[in-house]
Amino acid sequence: LLNSHYMKSQTTTTTEKKKKKRLKISDLRGFAQMAPYLKPHRLGFALGIILITISSILTLFVTRLWGQLGGVGIMGGNENISASDLETGFLANFNFNNLEAIGVTIAIVLVVQASLSFIRVYLFANMTEKMMLTMRRDAFEAVISMPMNFYHDKRVGDVNSRISADIASIQDTFTTTLAELIRQTIMLVGGIAALAYFSVDLTLMMLMTLPVVVLVAIVFGKFIKRLSKETQDEIASSNVIVQEVLTGIINVKAFANEWYERNRYASSIGTVRNLAMKGAIGRGAFASFIILFIFGAITLVIFKGAALMQSGELASEHFFTFLLMTGLVAGSVGGLANLFGIVQKGLGAVESLMDLLNEKREIRSLTEEVKSYDLRKPLKFENVHFHYNSRKELAILSNLSLEMKAGEQIALVGPSGAGKSTIASLLLRFESPVSGSITIDGEDVSEMDLRGFRKRIGYVPQEVILFGDDIRSNIAYGKLDATDSEIRDAAKRANAIDFIESFPEGFSTIVGERGIQLSGGQRQRIAIARAILRDPDILILDEATSALDSVSETEVQIALEELMKDRSTLIIAHRLSTIKNAHRIVVLVEGSVVETGTHSKLIENKGPYYRQIQSQDFK
Ligand code: ADP
Repeated sequence: LLNSHYMKSQTTTTTEKKKKKRLKISDLRGFAQMAPYLKPHRLGFALGIILITISSILTLFVTRLWGQLGGVGIMGGNENISASDLETGFLANFNFNNLEAIGVTIAIVLVVQASLSFIRVYLFANMTEKMMLTMRRDAFEAVISMPMNFYHDKRVGDVNSRISADIASIQDTFTTTLAELIRQTIMLVGGIAALAYFSVDLTLMMLMTLPVVVLVAIVFGKFIKRLSKETQDEIASSNVIVQEVLTGIINVKAFANEWYERNRYASSIGTVRNLAMKGAIGRGAFASFIILFIFGAITLVIFKGAALMQSGELASEHFFTFLLMTGLVAGSVGGLANLFGIVQKGLGAVESLMDLLNEKREIRSLTEEVKSYDLRKPLKFENVHFHYNSRKELAILSNLSLEMKAGEQIALVGPSGAGKSTIASLLLRFESPVSGSITIDGEDVSEMDLRGFRKRIGYVPQEVILFGDDIRSNIAYGKLDATDSEIRDAAKRANAIDFIESFPEGFSTIVGERGIQLSGGQRQRIAIARAILRDPDILILDEATSALDSVSETEVQIALEELMKDRSTLIIAHRLSTIKNAHRIVVLVEGSVVETGTHSKLIENKGPYYRQIQSQDFK
């Protein structure tokens, strides 16, 4: 269902990585790709890491003090403990048998630690949110800067849901996971060092179980990564179904295909559930593993420790500390294994987001300013050959040549599939000729700044889709900084002012999603007003094939004539009246120009045009 290009490129990267086999290298590459986003925050991250380090060491210290409390409690504070027992030299004069002193110290340390944690959480959130902002902006910029074929190859819902899922996952990684990873690592290493200080035997026993756990954690991490990618893909494809159904709800209803769509959706979310359950079983197995091996190991250590204390080889406060710290270390091992899976997922998300950001765009850098051009000049298509990338073997245009004088109105006529819309796409530079050239006043259009070029072109599509905003902003889309009076004037010239003012809300009337609250003819006149406001040099009109009633038809016609005045216009024509009024008719058959001339001349010729006029019902 979802063999889009975006996903294909993802699978390629996964296979590439599998070839490398070493997980660490690909991990680092993931981070390297994040570098531009991390760099502005490197000081903040460094500070955050220092805070986590201090906080983690304090946790170890508190654990040591808790152990001391336990030990002192048992011995009633009579036994002297030498300062050399303590890891921290600055506490040499501290009375370690005084319960109150220990308690107060713990309280102070906890307050310090609590404050540090607050600062750290705030710091990481602040940096991550800034990073997310840049990332979201970049992702959106990438998505709207792609060439048209990007949108043909992909389903919009898929791209949308994938980007949100990826960004959410990256956000998780940087807000909490990374910090946790550092904290748990310090706990693990520091804890083990402290344990070794108390009893090497006990520590070795503890460590014997660790490699097993780490191995299993790695395998598990891979499993989770694959599964979560599959789950995300499937969630994306179920979202696509919802989006498609809602967009095409008219078809669904008219064909009474609700049951079919329901099943299609049910089967997709069924797959989501199955994949999620697989993940759950994996996590369950992992939990069981932790209980058996880690808790088993803890039991073993406690057992041995109790035996050592009984035989007097281990001081009681050391035993207590040992117990608490073993719990800490064991918790870190379990936590790390879990975090490993989340980081893997985050890196997968980084990778797929970077794939998107690195994809070839038609707009390399998006800026507010564009170059300005004057395109009221002769336009030339010369020996243009074209095929779509998705169907390379199928030539759409072959050796097409076409000239248009400044201000000339040309009607493109030809059977459906002849390539009329393709010519419009080439002129709009949605596509580029495979060979041949399109020039304006001798300058190849492909040399011109893309957005500056398009700013001088007006396009009125066949199916006018409006934004769900009000009429004013829909017209103003042609010129974003237009004043109210300019908008009004455009509406007037587009013959739209009467119906707009007949609405109680006038220009503030909300048109409904995609403009469904307006009639076809009204939508077209809004689109024409938009084009008039834009005041382009070259106009491309894709005439609606759907019939309008004769009143609307005339109204749209009046608007179009106003719009076309003194502009070079290429009309994909469907109405005989439009064709007759055009300065010149170009007849297209299978991607080649077969005839050109005025209506009367072509009728005289009795060629393809004449035959088409005879056979086809032009409105
Ligand atoms: P017309 O506008 O004359 O009806 P088009 O220019 O829309 O013809 O289409 C010409 C040919 O190009 C058709 O065979 C059509 O199937 C094909 N075509 C149109 N758009 C695409 C696309 N995005 N990818 C592949 N083929 C396309």
